[in-house]
Amino acid sequence: MKLLIKNGRVIDPASGTDETLDILIDKGKIADIKAKIDIDKIKILDASRLVVAPGFIDMHTHLREPGQEHKETIKTGSLAAAKGGFTSILCMPNTEPVNDNRGVTEYIFSEAKKEALVNVFPVASISKGQKGAELTDMADLVDAGAVAFSDDGQPVQNNQLMRRTLEYSKLLNTLIIDHCEDKNLSQGGVMHEGYYSYLLGLKGIPASSEEIMVARDIILSGKADARLHIAHLSVKGAVNLVREAKKNKIKITTEATPHHLLLDDSYLETYDTNLKVNPPLRSKEDVQALTEAIREGTVDVIATDHAPHSPDEKDVEFDEAPFGINGLETAVSLLLDKLVNKKVISLKRFIEMISTSPAKILGFENKGKICIGADADLTILNLYKEIVVDVSKFKSKSRNNPFHDWKLKGTPAITIVGGKIVYPF
Ligand SMILES: [Zn+2]
Repeated sequence: MKLLIKNGRVIDPASGTDETLDILIDKGKIADIKAKIDIDKIKILDASRLVVAPGFIDMHTHLREPGQEHKETIKTGSLAAAKGGFTSILCMPNTEPVNDNRGVTEYIFSEAKKEALVNVFPVASISKGQKGAELTDMADLVDAGAVAFSDDGQPVQNNQLMRRTLEYSKLLNTLIIDHCEDKNLSQGGVMHEGYYSYLLGLKGIPASSEEIMVARDIILSGKADARLHIAHLSVKGAVNLVREAKKNKIKITTEATPHHLLLDDSYLETYDTNLKVNPPLRSKEDVQALTEAIREGTVDVIATDHAPHSPDEKDVEFDEAPFGINGLETAVSLLLDKLVNKKVISLKRFIEMISTSPAKILGFENKGKICIGADADLTILNLYKEIVVDVSKFKSKSRNNPFHDWKLKGTPAITIVGGKIVYPF
């Protein structure tokens, strides 16, 4: 099916394009881009006053299926993604069972093919059962289609195992994504360790628990010459380590989440369990360092760490609640309003971090760019529309999002996957 997108402001960081253009889509690919394309008898999408960007890619989501379908399924997670402006998502392996073998990876692909509106790419676990003891059959999982490996949430503590993981990943030319947390240091902690944890009487997670693992990963990936992506960077000390490592040409990339960029630990005075997340919301100084890091490029990618939990799981004492924020449907509006509109970063830099860079890091050659022959995955933004976050309207099965009632300017308007309009529904 053909589709002609007219008069949109096309921003493509990969080529540096920022101008009003028409885009012709044919057979799921971009067939032409010109100042003016006129064809008779074709479906036309008027994108006047809208921004046309390469499809957004979320490198970090939790879809909960198989095993915890009461929180989210591949179907509902993909609906949330489409509404949130994402055309591709990577799903983490901490399902039940863990995605540590070909059977689970293939299950995710087959469910996604039947049910998902967006591209779903499975991340397999590094260790069997995410137990940190024995490596999975990484070659077989790559063959089955796993696009990266991670023990996110239950990160590998054993340095020898991590060393071997990185060596294998180099051979297989795949990506390791690490949630950097020394569990001995963080154990029992529920929020950032600092002034507010003492004030609120809650056990803290020290910055050092992240810094130590980031330092370890930099050393090991440097020695193995392997590609390593650090998930949800959150503290100033870790930002400094990454900055230094990049100067030394270590193949390290990083991501930051909207909540770590926009919220700090002072928000926890409300004891709202929707703010309980791992890594925890950090100090104002850390938020400042992270903001600097997205401007200068020390942070490459924005990812949501979408982690749905059911209301009854979050509706408990702060100490008892599970970690996680439901983020797919609010990320884009939050960042447009709080970072782009406030001129913290440019719109082009934002698109680069949420599309161009993830595609590059993952080796998705036909995604993250707008050029002839690229996949017709596009995110179309309305920069002028104001919205009020309403968690009751979420397409996700869960509601655990701390931004309820926030008024934001700028929102995803149309999501196109493989040439098909998947949102509005
Ligand atoms: Zn994580």
